[in-house]
Amino acid sequence: MRRKIVAGNWKMNKNVIEAQQLMTQLLEYTMSNKSNCEVWIAPPSLYLMMAKDVFENDEIGVFAQDISTHESGAYTGEISVDMLESIDADGTLIGHSERRQYHGENDESCNKKVKLALDKGLIPVYCNGETLDQRKAGQHFDVVKTQTETALFTLSAEEIKKVVIAYEPVWAIGTGETATPEQAQEIHAHIRSSIAEKYGQEVADEVSILYGGSVKPDNAKEIFSQPDIDGGLIGGAALKVEDFSKIIEGF
Ligand code: PEP
Repeated sequence: MRRKIVAGNWKMNKNVIEAQQLMTQLLEYTMSNKSNCEVWIAPPSLYLMMAKDVFENDEIGVFAQDISTHESGAYTGEISVDMLESIDADGTLIGHSERRQYHGENDESCNKKVKLALDKGLIPVYCNGETLDQRKAGQHFDVVKTQTETALFTLSAEEIKKVVIAYEPVWAIGTGETATPEQAQEIHAHIRSSIAEKYGQEVADEVSILYGGSVKPDNAKEIFSQPDIDGGLIGGAALKVEDFSKIIEGF
């Protein structure tokens, strides 16, 4: 059975009081509701230690939004896998489209980051997805396949099973525009079959692939019901417990 996951990416939102409030609300929610999936959050790195304190019994997985390609040293503003390991974080997002767009992230740097994370026992949530122009040009299948190959196919079979992939079409992130469940399913199936070609079906069947891009309480259930969609990476709707909890209940 593949892991089913709903993960919230808080991006650069919330001051410390608001962050603590939302974490406390999420803790209360998970204490009084049994969910059919794992619940993870990726708050700003400033709040990761607080998250580890609030979710001291691992009620919710705690993830960074990015890591450095370097192990340590003179890289102002960055955080390392060692730092995450030292606070017992669960993993990190890698290659989010906003990191690609504004910070020069690419699949080669993602490949390095995925390996660094795995070496420290952290779960890499590798994000990929095509732009609107690429979709309009009918290149989405090729783009996503190449992204997956470049970032992940140097891994061993045992390693790739530990990676979580988040397919996030760039045109659907924060735009209110969602891929239809069918559009998402066909890309998820395509990613899985690329993994199967390289590593075999058994390995491919173990890799969880999340969908991200304007998932909301009213579309989560239908998206999550697709056979190759194992959950969601949620941006805007992860910032309020009312919305996020309804998405969790989509499972
Ligand atoms: C995201 O940032 O990963 C995301 C999917 O954002 P949103 O849900 O707001 O589209």
